Amino acid sequence: MTMMVAFHDVSKIFPDGTVALRGVSLEIPRGAFTVLLGASGAGKSTLLYLVNGMTRASAGAVDVEGVRIGPRTLRHVQRTVSMIHQQFQLVDRLSVLDNVLSGALRDISTGRALIKWFTAEQRRRACELIEMVGLGPEHVYRRASDLSGGQQQRVAIARAFISMPRIVLADEPVSSLDPGTSEEILTLLKDTARQFGVTVLCSLHQVDLALEFADHIIGMRQGRLEFEGPAHEKREALARLYDKAEQEHCETLIQQH
Ligand code: ADP
Repeated sequence: MTMMVAFHDVSKIFPDGTVALRGVSLEIPRGAFTVLLGASGAGKSTLLYLVNGMTRASAGAVDVEGVRIGPRTLRHVQRTVSMIHQQFQLVDRLSVLDNVLSGALRDISTGRALIKWFTAEQRRRACELIEMVGLGPEHVYRRASDLSGGQQQRVAIARAFISMPRIVLADEPVSSLDPGTSEEILTLLKDTARQFGVTVLCSLHQVDLALEFADHIIGMRQGRLEFEGPAHEKREALARLYDKAEQEHCETLIQQH
């Protein structure tokens, strides 16, 4: 399988001295749904932010489709990457349509977003995506803040795909949703990505969801890579990611699957 992203001995130390990543080397397979699993503080968000340039490695290097991220390549790489957030991060006062369209604006200033500078083709594609993520015509002009959490995350998925990314990063995308909605959203994200041939790197802290959705699992603990591999081979290793108190619960979940 060819690789989409490669991390080469990456470390991240924040200015206050916090070590978020310690010598992480790993590869993200192209076209797969890869889950980054680990407890809070394990370094998952930091790893995701390295891929879209929101943070820079203190040591080591990151390649996206063979292009090393650096000052001269960052914008090129950013054009191929979209992100989905835990708190959706829609613009509350804008409509569903305008939020989705804003995903097409990565190269244009937000000033243009405000004067609604979009082509007919962009609008058509936005409407198609809104339908694809399961929202009806009645939602198109509704304000984002009037939607439920699950609906807002659907809008965020449409926004992520409108720019035709090669890779979508999802940072704990279901942490603020109830279990039923979480399953729906992860199913939607996985199906949409598969349909467009897009690679997904999704952080989660829930073992059961990782087992259900991951093609490939990366386990992290305290800034280190704990294990990596196809999801079906990694079940026993999952319990190691968590503290003693959580391990028993984790093992029960693994047996149920
Ligand atoms: P996760 O996503 O697995 O919860 P993070 O990548 O957010 O983990 O964080 C890893 C570690 O880095 C944690 O100890 C966190 O407190 C720390 N951290 C994250 N961002 C910063 C920052 N801007 N400054 C200092 N420490 C940070």
